[in-house]
Amino acid sequence: MDKFYHIVTYGCQMNVHESEKIAGILSELGYVSCDSMEKADIVVFNTCCIRENAENHAYGNIGMLKKLKAAKRDMIIAVGGCLTQQMNKADVLHEKFPYVDIIFGTHNLNKLKDFVIEKQHRKKSIIKIDECDGSVVEGDNPLRTSYPNAWVNITYGCNNFCSYCIVPYVRGRERSRKSENILAEVKSLVDEGYKEITLLGQNVNSYANGTDDIPFYKLLEKVAAIDGKFRLRFMTSHPKDFSEELAKTIADNPKICHCLHLPVQSGSDRILNAMNRRYTTADYLRKVDILKKYVPDCAITTDLIVGFPGETDEDFEDTLNLVKKVDFSSAFTFVYSKREGTKAAEMDCQIPEEVSKKRIMQLVDLVNEQTRNHSQKFVGTTTEILCEGVDEKKGLYLGRNEYGRMAYFKSDKDVVGQFLNVKVESANGVSLYGEVVK
Ligand code: SF4
Repeated sequence: MDKFYHIVTYGCQMNVHESEKIAGILSELGYVSCDSMEKADIVVFNTCCIRENAENHAYGNIGMLKKLKAAKRDMIIAVGGCLTQQMNKADVLHEKFPYVDIIFGTHNLNKLKDFVIEKQHRKKSIIKIDECDGSVVEGDNPLRTSYPNAWVNITYGCNNFCSYCIVPYVRGRERSRKSENILAEVKSLVDEGYKEITLLGQNVNSYANGTDDIPFYKLLEKVAAIDGKFRLRFMTSHPKDFSEELAKTIADNPKICHCLHLPVQSGSDRILNAMNRRYTTADYLRKVDILKKYVPDCAITTDLIVGFPGETDEDFEDTLNLVKKVDFSSAFTFVYSKREGTKAAEMDCQIPEEVSKKRIMQLVDLVNEQTRNHSQKFVGTTTEILCEGVDEKKGLYLGRNEYGRMAYFKSDKDVVGQFLNVKVESANGVSLYGEVVK
């Protein structure tokens, strides 16, 4: 009889890919994916602690499993991801939710198989939170769920210590995979038929820093030189490490999408300094100019935080002005989330919630207007998309163009995984609507 697993993922793309690795481990143990916790024999929460609401969401969901676990004693509940790696959080979790069977840290993921086997034979909970030992584990066997897209880690951890960010504390110092391993993985994914490869790291631009391996732009060149028709994306790029060589590499290699995520976070130099971002708005704008010089049609997306401690009305105005200057293709906007253990959490002048709320609404209005304008520019044009799947609610196929815009269209046959030309007839927010043309 089949045994089932269900994974609940919080947070970013990195975590989505990590859940694919968890799925790979569980399938090696004979478990099969299912879409509900009620049916599952093992439920894994792959948590995120970057923002408070993701953390609270995870707590809420774990709490809801208490009744189910009481009724289904053999069910295994495991909690991993960066929430568990925060100082003392594993103990807090164990105390709050004693029915959780396995609590594992970000550096213990590759041992999950052993933990599950051990748990099948013992009553006591397993709690294993190790510190980062600086090694890079190879040989993952992820069960990929996002065909035709595939994610490939190139770095883990981060050395930047932005003052608001918990990542360096829960993911460890930056370490890079060997370029030969990355190239072999991408080659085999392309051979398997994947059509879009995204290289992942907290700061891909500092790939291989301090080692004798090739720098990031060279890695991109080599990946782009792999035979076959596929697209290449990467994220995230820290602006301080964005270089002219990288802009040239994007321009010179047609497989690399003309779409760059370059998180600016704030338009105020005072706040950027307090955030420890290590660039000024002038540096950022200079890099945007370099990018536009080599790749004039590049869609630039960003992340923005409002309500960082000490942010004044003037600082916020500076952010609005920078957003107007750059004219982002789209942006993720966040209210600052206080994370215990970070420098910013100890700063005076935390901003009242109502002030942050007002600012975020103003910022979202501006960003939405820019997004709509960028989408409108596609109306009447034909754009190549890679079909990713079906939107069941809309009853339409969907696929992204190289600039990251999602297009929706009808098709009589299954076209998932195909490159198609879509003539765009209308646009709504970040979405385009059109029909397939030859
Ligand atoms: S670059 Fe800054 S924001 Fe990004 S993961 Fe590293 S510390 Fe966090």
